[in-house]
Amino acid sequence: MDFTPSPRTAELVGKLNDFLETHILPLERRMLEGRSFTSLLPELEAGRQRVKELGLWGPQLPKAWGGMGLSLTEHAAVSEVLGRSPLGHYHFNCQAPDAGNMEILLSFGSDEQKETFLRPLAEGKIRSCFSMTEPDAAGSNPTWLETQAFLDGDEWVINGRKWFTTAADGAAFAIVMAVTKPEAPPHMRASQIIVPTDTKGFRLVRNLPVMGEAGDGYASHAEVEYVDCRVPKANLLGPDGAGFFIAQERLGPGRIHHAMRWIGIAERAFEMMCKRAAERDIAPGKKLAHKQIVQSWIAESRAKIDAARLYVQHTAWRIEKEGAGEARDEISAIKFFVADVLTFVLDRSIQTHGALGLVDDTILAYFYRHERAAHIYDGADEVHKVSLAKRILKRYGAQV
Ligand SMILES: Cc1cc2nc3c(=O)[nH]c(=O)nc-3n(C[C@H](O)[C@H](O)[C@H](O)COP(=O)(O)OP(=O)(O)OC[C@H]3O[C@@H](n4cnc5c(N)ncnc54)[C@H](O)[C@@H]3O)c2cc1C
Repeated sequence: MDFTPSPRTAELVGKLNDFLETHILPLERRMLEGRSFTSLLPELEAGRQRVKELGLWGPQLPKAWGGMGLSLTEHAAVSEVLGRSPLGHYHFNCQAPDAGNMEILLSFGSDEQKETFLRPLAEGKIRSCFSMTEPDAAGSNPTWLETQAFLDGDEWVINGRKWFTTAADGAAFAIVMAVTKPEAPPHMRASQIIVPTDTKGFRLVRNLPVMGEAGDGYASHAEVEYVDCRVPKANLLGPDGAGFFIAQERLGPGRIHHAMRWIGIAERAFEMMCKRAAERDIAPGKKLAHKQIVQSWIAESRAKIDAARLYVQHTAWRIEKEGAGEARDEISAIKFFVADVLTFVLDRSIQTHGALGLVDDTILAYFYRHERAAHIYDGADEVHKVSLAKRILKRYGAQV
């Protein structure tokens, strides 16, 4: 295994770093100064246009769909660079949840669904959301949903309540998980249905105030109600009852993107910690860098980030060589392992900055507010730990 970036990847990473420094970080500063996401849209759109002109649009998308057609390992490197800013992935149209939705539309969408929903999404003309988690049912058990859909003639009629539907505010359509076959075995009860958000019966109740910020537009998480919401029968994505299977398919490569984005954040927080330690006078002639406890945080953070990156690269490599099924253990493990590294490094970086670490004069507090969620979304850490441990123990004959 050789994880040396290919000359093509190294060149691409260089270009992305330049773009980040020149275009994205100045915009990020404006966001931290209190500009809403929606108010930044003109600048964001100009940035996206520039990305297209540079031929860097949609790194994860096949070339036939206007993207760069990068491999998973190549996209991993890209995702780390873009993860350094909360506005990084959005500029390149590889942001969650749109990237995952593009992926499942590509794999499971009908020709008509691809033309109607995937084409404008891939071109960046619209946004989308993924509506699975419910306030009244444990999201950690994806087979347990209260939202129901039934066929009435040529239409699906959907009823239910969802929340944490990321980026629903301003999205053109939602992909909704709903029970369509209540009598089937648990893993075959739900289906995914595409719902344009201007459909009567789709109601955005509110943007949830998460860690004190409700956000807006792409940068928000909504509570959504489906009340006798009718969409054509043809809006079923994949086979009836395949919702759980499709959701699982969405997670494998998506986990690599997420984990590498987290590593990008951790790396940026690490660099800030080192810079602050080297510059901050703590007493006459003494810098924070002289303190062994800070040295220890720096050494531990370096080792953790490097270990996490190698683990994710190895997982991506296994998925490419052997498929997501064979890499199941690693896909589970990187979820909680990298989330731990992310929050460890962020916390130490904030501590090194003292009170400054809590003020939006740096990006650290923003990351701290938004990335605590890393332990919860994409499957809570505990769920992955339990399923990984069970698979391991079964190999030892344990009946778990
Ligand atoms: C920022 C953010 C964005 C999100 N975006 C989306 C989105 O776009 N679309 C969407 O549908 N959902 C989204 N979610 C929801 C997310 O997928 C769920 O929050 C997650 O699946 C956990 O479900 P829950 O919140 O219902 O927690 P619960 O299932 O109630 O679990 C609560 C806690 O119990 C523990 N736990 C659960 N199961 C086990 C177990 N088997 N063993 C041991 N401990 C366990 C875990 O610690 C867990 O945190 C998002 C969440 C966040 C925070």
